[in-house]
Amino acid sequence: MISQPIYQHLTAGNDFCEMQVLVVDDDPKMLEGVRQLLEIHRYSVSTAEGGAQACLELLKKSYDVLLLDLHLDGISGYDVMEFIKDNSIKTPVIVISGNSSFASVSKAMQMGALDYIKKPYDPEELLITIKNTTSKKQLEEINTKMQRQLKKSEALHRYIVNNSPDIICTLNHEGRIMFINSKIEKFLEYKPHELIGKQYSEIVNPDDIEKLNLFVKEKILHNPGDYQPDKIEVRLVPKGNYFQSRFFELTLFPIELNSLGFQPKSANEKLFGIYAIVHDITERKEAKEYIHFQACHDLLTKLPNRAFFEDRGRIAISRTNQNNCTVGVMFLDLDRFKVINDSLGHAMGDRLLQSVTNRLESCLRKYDTLSRFGADEFMLLLPEISSRENAEHVALKIIDIMREPFMLGNQEIFVDITIGISILPDGGETIEQLIQDAEIAMYHAKSRGKKGIQFYDKEMNASSPHRLVMERDLRRALKNNEFEISYQPQIALNSGRIIGFEALARWNHPEKGKIRPIEFIPIAEETRLIEDLGEWVLRNACSEALEWIKKGYDMIRLSINISPMQIENPRFVEKFLHILDICKFPGKNMEIELTESILMTDLERMAHILNQLHKHAITVAIDDFGIGYSSLSYIQKLPIHTLKIDQSFMHSIKNETDESCLVNAIIAMGKGLNLNTVAEGVETMTQIKYLQNLGCHAVQGYYFGEPRSGQKCFDLLTETTFVTS
Ligand code: C2E
Ligand code: CA
Ligand code: CA
Repeated sequence: MISQPIYQHLTAGNDFCEMQVLVVDDDPKMLEGVRQLLEIHRYSVSTAEGGAQACLELLKKSYDVLLLDLHLDGISGYDVMEFIKDNSIKTPVIVISGNSSFASVSKAMQMGALDYIKKPYDPEELLITIKNTTSKKQLEEINTKMQRQLKKSEALHRYIVNNSPDIICTLNHEGRIMFINSKIEKFLEYKPHELIGKQYSEIVNPDDIEKLNLFVKEKILHNPGDYQPDKIEVRLVPKGNYFQSRFFELTLFPIELNSLGFQPKSANEKLFGIYAIVHDITERKEAKEYIHFQACHDLLTKLPNRAFFEDRGRIAISRTNQNNCTVGVMFLDLDRFKVINDSLGHAMGDRLLQSVTNRLESCLRKYDTLSRFGADEFMLLLPEISSRENAEHVALKIIDIMREPFMLGNQEIFVDITIGISILPDGGETIEQLIQDAEIAMYHAKSRGKKGIQFYDKEMNASSPHRLVMERDLRRALKNNEFEISYQPQIALNSGRIIGFEALARWNHPEKGKIRPIEFIPIAEETRLIEDLGEWVLRNACSEALEWIKKGYDMIRLSINISPMQIENPRFVEKFLHILDICKFPGKNMEIELTESILMTDLERMAHILNQLHKHAITVAIDDFGIGYSSLSYIQKLPIHTLKIDQSFMHSIKNETDESCLVNAIIAMGKGLNLNTVAEGVETMTQIKYLQNLGCHAVQGYYFGEPRSGQKCFDLLTETTFVTS
């Protein structure tokens, strides 16, 4: 569109540029007359006296008008026009001739003349004719120039628009896409032409259409004049891919008719359309969402974490009044996960947790929330349940679904699950209380040795809070590797050399510090956690002691304490040998310590167990010997190797030759049964001398220092022998 002022400026006739006119006539007077007339009117005039000269002039220079006499000697006016045509000369031609027959005029016009003036010419007519011709030509020139400029500026704008980092588009008043730049292809794989004329809603995620429509209606259509550019986040759908929306930030501007130079006919015709800048924020959005997700989810199982769970719990509790329902919380704990994790490796452990998650999720109702609290602890929130039976039903379903083995690689793994359940309000009024009580219920289920389901009961708290806390902490300790092993050397009394080490479990509680085995072993036994703990000690002690053996101390014997609970397990021997096998620990370097009470309970079974171990050269020691049973017949029936004289006997040794001491009798008995004797709790040189005199084989006790770390034990081994005499 050409605006008025520019047009006027460009067509300002001779002020703007000087017109070049070539006059051709074979009459010199005629030539002179025309020249004078035109020069007065500020044309620049050249003359040619014949056709040949005219042609030459036309080649030399570009004229704005040619005044051509048709009748020239030699080369005629027609010939000149022929020449103009042949040489594609653009100069417009006005023919001046005395011969104004229709035939000659029409021939001249056919050959391209623009106008015709009869001789003798009327100066006024001549000037007007020239002016008409030149201004027509001038207009054409201006037009092409404008076209060129427009093309250039359009190309520039197109370049700018297409190279913008954003999608740019315009919509008409019906919401159809009128223009869209080529960036659409990069983000949404459409070619611009595929979308022209389509409704914008065709590329908007269906869930966002209403939001966008509302924005357009309220913010733009309502009062475009007052609109402040505003942004809205919308998902757009790539071509043919309905499930993979990308996120965009749209900035919309109304295009008003008057801003385009048009006058709206009515008030509601004011809006021409909408101009939109569409900025891709997918990455920003995804990063934000990922961070948010990370903050409230467990990344391994993708389940909500504790904070998220508690949030949902609070909402569920707040809704119970309106809905006349209650809320249930379940604490789900996998039995023996730690052992599986240790023996199969963490990668497998992770896969197992993911599989368990999938199975648990298959039991959930739409509004239930499953969450992972710790290594193998899951929490389940059951909002809107009507009774305890509802929760029990879900729990039974879970127990049932966990019965099937899990396949990890080509291994079949069985995972038991224990479930503690607390129900609002008996199990507490707040989500924190419900969680804690579900946990207590779960411990109760475990400590009864029964796998399965346990509802929380107020009496559980009263029963023994200390023990429950301890039990909870113990479970955590195993998962969090809070245990370590100290070793106590056993020294041969004849040589002063170290012949073995007893492994003693140590617990570094994160808050309470070091806790002694006297405190935690009984609880570990009651709760059966001793099985996991025992395996852990065996594994770790074996791998540490194996290093000493490998470094040349191949006579060293490792003593491991075994609790009755472990022996009760029908697969004890199998599991024990399996660990030695994995650790490549030689049986001949292994001694197990059992108390008399275990040995006495089921002689036949014990014989079977100990004989199997004996086949692998594993020796057996009776721990704390002398304090319990008087019948010694069992010793002869079992493959026993060592008697460990209980440390309580050491206090009675007052001097080096006290014969009334019970230790006397025990050592003598050991000799009689052909057993090794090891005295425990040796703290003084007097005791050592006494034991030596009696022919006791070895001693262990604080006299040689407190039990110490594996590394310190190895240092001890490399030092010289102890002085025992
Ligand atoms: P235990 O098998 O009779 O172990 C000897 C205990 O006496 C150890 O106590 C040891 O530190 C302590 N002791 C050693 N020398 C002396 C001494 O000269 N004087 C005195 N007063 N005490 C001495 P600890 O480590 O507290 O272990 C206590 C009990 O816990 C052990 O008695 C053992 O029955 C049990 N225990 C320790 N580790 C394990 C384990 O890994 N598995 C099992 N099942 N029981 C373990
Ligand atoms: Ca012991
Ligand atoms: Ca002992």
